[in-house]
Parts: sequence; C-alpha cells; structure tokens
Amino acid sequence: MQNEPTAQQLKDIKIIAKFTEVWCVGQQHSGQQPVAAYPELQPLTLCPDCAAFLDYAVKKRLNCPLEAEKPTCRRCRIHCYAPQQRALVKQIMAWSGRKMIMRGRLDYLWHYFF
Ligand code: SF4
Ligand SMILES: [Zn+2]
Repeated sequence: MQNEPTAQQLKDIKIIAKFTEVWCVGQQHSGQQPVAAYPELQPLTLCPDCAAFLDYAVKKRLNCPLEAEKPTCRRCRIHCYAPQQRALVKQIMAWSGRKMIMRGRLDYLWHYFF
C-alpha cells in the first residue's frame, strides 16, 4: 500500500493535474468527465486518455526513485517516463504552460518542468 504522500509530492501532483486539465479542456477532447486525480485534490475535467496519462504521471511522481534529491523532472538524469508518455508530458507542459502565462498565472511559470 502507498504511504501517505509528502507535501511536495502532493504539490507536484496538483501541478501536473492542472496542466493536464488545461490541455484536455483547451484541446476539446471528447468524453470529458469529472476525475479524481488524487483523493486530496478537487476533481478535474478529463477525457479518458488524459485521465490515463495523469494516472501514469501520478504513479511516477509517487514512486520517483530520486525522491531524496528530487531534481525537476526536466533536469532528471534518469527520466523514468516511457518515450510515449515523455513526449506527451513535454507537449502538455509546453502548451498548457503558455496558456497559463497568457492567463497571467505566472506562479505556474516556475513549474514549467518538462
Ligand atoms: S522523471 Fe526523474 S525526477 Fe521525475 S519522477 Fe521520474 S525519476 Fe523522478
Ligand atoms: Zn483529454
């Protein structure tokens, strides 16, 4: 069973979840419905593919083998994502990052981490 997430893990999960939702809604994917990315977080609006991607990303974050040093994923020396998900997360972070900046959410700029 998974241990309780740390505050940093929850924060990172919240960020990837938000970016994924901005991507899914902005790209007008079909079949969106409320999805719980993590029990402590508000439900998100996601299509099944984005929900599956987010589930993958959450698992990766919770099981990061570099937790002690925790680099940003972008600067990671391992890159634990499979090639397909890694390509997707880069696309999501770049696209949603630009959207967030356009909306004045500069607080998210720092988290442009893929
Ligand atoms: S990419 Fe690197 S830092 Fe990010 S979760 Fe995977 S191992 Fe950890
Ligand atoms: Zn989607």
